[in-house]
Amino acid sequence: MNGKEILRGLTVTLKHFVETYVVDLVSGKKRYRTAEGISDRAKADTRGIFTVQYPEEKIPVPEEFRYIPFLVYDVKEDGTKSIRCTSCGICAKVCPPQCIWIVRTVDPVTSKPVPVPAEYYIDLDICMNCGFCAEYCPFDAIKMDHDYEIASYDRRAAHVYNLEKLLKPASYYAVIRPTNAAREDQVRADKEAAKAAKKPTNEASTP
Ligand code: SF4
Ligand code: SF4
Repeated sequence: MNGKEILRGLTVTLKHFVETYVVDLVSGKKRYRTAEGISDRAKADTRGIFTVQYPEEKIPVPEEFRYIPFLVYDVKEDGTKSIRCTSCGICAKVCPPQCIWIVRTVDPVTSKPVPVPAEYYIDLDICMNCGFCAEYCPFDAIKMDHDYEIASYDRRAAHVYNLEKLLKPASYYAVIRPTNAAREDQVRADKEAAKAAKKPTNEASTP
């Protein structure tokens, strides 16, 4: 019984080995370093064994791939940034390795907190890419990025991202995670519509 399974395993290995040469011969040079070749090798049913010629070529990551987090901002009609983060601190609380630091903005006149982060830091070397911050954020303000090319010789300064480095536009989020972005936009639009529908009733009940 065991011998039969070992033989079956060896046959699968041999099949992959032979397919590697067959597919290489059939595809010719277009299998490597071309958009078509990369897309073909990224498919689940691709055949043969291959080496990704990184960094010259990169296999596209799936939508749900997550690396480090980034903060989302919307662009207002006048072109200014509207940061979604309210500095509520939930992401920092749920972060398992505690690699998020937030400083909330304080109104200099009233000394009351303003729902915008004055400072926001993430230590990328401690982040374990779990995505909890993005899952728990009530404002869709923090999302997991696809960009995994963050290697640097300057570990201390370069791997602690501040607000400036973390901020990316909502349009970028829509490009890397189109399904999630569309779903969240729809939920927000539905909430706005529901709020707008309630308004006349509230106004009518106001004395
Ligand atoms: S990213 Fe989200 S959870 Fe974190 S502080 Fe900002 S609004 Fe709160
Ligand atoms: S992905 Fe996980 S570890 Fe990284 S900052 Fe978010 S909660 Fe923390």
